[in-house]
Amino acid sequence: MKNIAILGSTGSIGTQTLEIVREQKDIKVWALAAGKNIDLLEKQIREFSPKLAAVWEESDAKDLQLRVKDLPVQVCYGMDGLLAVSTIPQAEILVTAIVGMLGLRPTVAAIRAKKCIALANKETLVTAGHLIMPLAEENHVSILPVDSEHSAIFQALNGEQGNRIHKILLTASGGPFRGKTREELAHMQLEDALKHPNWSMGKKITIDSATMINKGLEVMEARWLFGTDLDQIEVLVQPQSVIHSMVEFEDGSVIAQLGVPDMRLPIQYALYYPKRMPLSGKRLDFSALGGITFEKPDRKSVV
Ligand code: NDP
Repeated sequence: MKNIAILGSTGSIGTQTLEIVREQKDIKVWALAAGKNIDLLEKQIREFSPKLAAVWEESDAKDLQLRVKDLPVQVCYGMDGLLAVSTIPQAEILVTAIVGMLGLRPTVAAIRAKKCIALANKETLVTAGHLIMPLAEENHVSILPVDSEHSAIFQALNGEQGNRIHKILLTASGGPFRGKTREELAHMQLEDALKHPNWSMGKKITIDSATMINKGLEVMEARWLFGTDLDQIEVLVQPQSVIHSMVEFEDGSVIAQLGVPDMRLPIQYALYYPKRMPLSGKRLDFSALGGITFEKPDRKSVV
């Protein structure tokens, strides 16, 4: 039995985590935290019966508490609520699927409470990797990457302990603006930026992917997770999003992880690591795929 708590349960990663809970049947959800979407949070409380639920605003907490008064769930709010969810004693794993720097304090609290972190909230490492990684080591806590690229690197490093990484090849789809000229980019609208060609994600990360800022954040995330220098990380555009990233070792061997673009795979891998569990959904069909192509990032159109 896996015992988990989720920060950001109403978002893209949070709801996909709950899809895995629904499918696997051996995961108990002890606590859920969301921001404002109390309609969905109420449904999640009714389906997954957590002991604790948190929202951001006090007024939403009061409203939610009334709605679920027939259930044995405690509702809390604000940063105290996030901290209570992330340190709930029954959970061994905290899924950090909240967006932005807000994830930092709850993640620190969870590490101090010896929870394993299934980390989607990359902003935590981007802003404080220098604090988080040593803290996790000190507390003998694993930080298991949920970001698909970092999960791919993590999987490629399985069984390679003691072997030096020569280079990380961090792949990028290029997003909705790949191939556009500077002139075309000047006319792009919000709706254009929100149309990611391969991944269905929350709004912030989708916009960050359109501008390629997300890849910059991922380079920093990878640097902390895998302890490499920044110049050992190369961004490579791979528009089909089939190779989720690769590691080149000192002997020139390159190990890659491939799969369909489905975030449930890295989420589930983090929840069950080192075990692989069955997962429903599409599989890679290489003959239908036709080809996998690579490009260097286009720096000219944006600089
Ligand atoms: P979403 O915008 O879909 O979800 C964000 C979640 O955070 C929602 O549950 C939201 O609640 C909650 N939230 C926002 N503000 C608060 C707050 N003040 N207090 C409590 N909860 C809050 O984001 P994603 O799921 O796309 O991304 C989450 C993280 O995962 C990000 O760091 C992102 O970079 C990373 N990530 C996402 C991927 C993806 O495929 N989506 C892939 C790899 C990484 P509510 O909606 O109720 O307001």
